[in-house]
Amino acid sequence: MTLERGARRERLRALLGAEAVLSEPQECAPFLLDHLGRCRGSALAVVQPRSVAQVAQVLEFCDAERIGVVPHGGNTSYCGGAIPDESGHEIVLSLRRLNSIRNVDPENYSLVAEAGCVLAQVQAAAETAGRFFPLSIGSQGSCQIGGNLSTNAGGVNVLRYGMTRDLVLGLEVVLPGGRVLDGLSTLRKDNTGYDIKSLFLGAEGTLGVITAASFRLFPEVRTRATALAAIADVRSAVTLLGELRAASGDRVSSFELIPRIGIELTARHIPGVSDPLPGDYAWYVLCELSSSRVAEPLDALLEEALAAALSRGLVLDAALVRSERERAALWKLRETIPEAQRHEGASLKHDISLPVAALPDFVARAAAWVAEQVPEGRLVAYGHVGDGNLHFNISQLPSADREHFLARAAQVRRAIHDMVREFGGSFSAEHGVGRTKVAELERYASPVELDLMRAVKRAFDPHGIMNPGKVLRAS
Ligand SMILES: Cc1cc2nc3c(=O)[nH]c(=O)nc-3n(C[C@H](O)[C@H](O)[C@H](O)COP(=O)(O)OP(=O)(O)OC[C@H]3O[C@@H](n4cnc5c(N)ncnc54)[C@H](O)[C@@H]3O)c2cc1C
Repeated sequence: MTLERGARRERLRALLGAEAVLSEPQECAPFLLDHLGRCRGSALAVVQPRSVAQVAQVLEFCDAERIGVVPHGGNTSYCGGAIPDESGHEIVLSLRRLNSIRNVDPENYSLVAEAGCVLAQVQAAAETAGRFFPLSIGSQGSCQIGGNLSTNAGGVNVLRYGMTRDLVLGLEVVLPGGRVLDGLSTLRKDNTGYDIKSLFLGAEGTLGVITAASFRLFPEVRTRATALAAIADVRSAVTLLGELRAASGDRVSSFELIPRIGIELTARHIPGVSDPLPGDYAWYVLCELSSSRVAEPLDALLEEALAAALSRGLVLDAALVRSERERAALWKLRETIPEAQRHEGASLKHDISLPVAALPDFVARAAAWVAEQVPEGRLVAYGHVGDGNLHFNISQLPSADREHFLARAAQVRRAIHDMVREFGGSFSAEHGVGRTKVAELERYASPVELDLMRAVKRAFDPHGIMNPGKVLRAS
């Protein structure tokens, strides 16, 4: 016999204390709508545990009562994964009160942080200890490390340091039923059977609640060189990336592609952003080299490499950054492209990845398709080209009808994702599956992959309480 709604809330209050369980509509509202305003849900309650033991109590209770649990970090993700369904039967479990840095060990180049730490807090803790935590994304002031782990976030330093997954040494996870997987190892080498922790990375809260993680750190970055280079096409970006990696001893940490329209939109809508180069060019790359050595002549190295590329016509113009202020301005331009897009209306967004070498042909073909098939939109394709990851977005023309434009979303998504598959790519590079791309996973994952994913889900979460309907359809 399961309890009725009011009794369930009372039991949660008895476990966590009354102030840790929200049920008033206005208190719950921020947890029930994603930041894009596209996914909305309803909940039995929003719970805010203060300790791992409390998370375990909640999962034990919810497993027994078959109550769906939706882990909730900073709510900055793009696929609605942190939002409950509309039934009102699920609870939202916010990690924001589990926000301590448990340990920083500079000698071991490692750090242990609780899931509710905001990413910027983790970066700052590493910096205070003279170390570098390389995960860097536009939402770092509000996303939480538990969300980063659960989406396997990427960002602007993946080229050099890898995705979130590559930074993890160990995890502490509460499982459905309330058992705790205590795996906060800081070992670099540990070949002892299946790598269980890796299953939680990118699982979007469907297997358990991550409560803490141990991470590898890196030497502090002491020297940087940053430039914006204008290029004719995406093929030039790929060639330039290869040349810069070789010429710099693989010190390229970021390599971001920006289309002309990205510069125009940000210059038009974002205060303080202006066009950094005098001419109009089709494409640009924002490239950054970095090193832990103070006296590394990275500026000279980058200038020389770009000058050589300029003389061969690979680069059409370039501006090397001369101050931290100029660097911040360039990064602001890159990171505010999505915000600038919003000023011009709706966008159809596709977070895709391809083998880097396939990008030029893919962009040529997909851009031609957009020009022909979506006349009411403009392509705004930008992103982490060094990782083969493009945010292949189509912004509505200001003159187009918003609703009519948005009604094309499913058809456009299908065509673009089918093309991505043809080129050997992925329909979700760094944003995950959440609740909005479940059908895409069903379409593009192989039957073997889907079977294995369902088997893992059943093994970890036999009653299907963890984030039901996200990643895999609820059974
Ligand atoms: C301006 C902007 C820029 C961005 N740039 C990037 C970028 O460059 N690269 C990138 O990868 N992403 C980017 N994102 C997307 C987003 O910030 C990341 O996906 C981030 O990792 C989400 O973290 P969060 O704490 O907000 O997670 P949430 O949105 O709260 O949750 C995301 C998913 O993780 C689950 N979850 C959260 N916490 C836990 C936990 N402790 N245990 C188990 N499951 C949990 C949730 O249930 C949900 O399924 C950007 C977003 C914005 C708004």
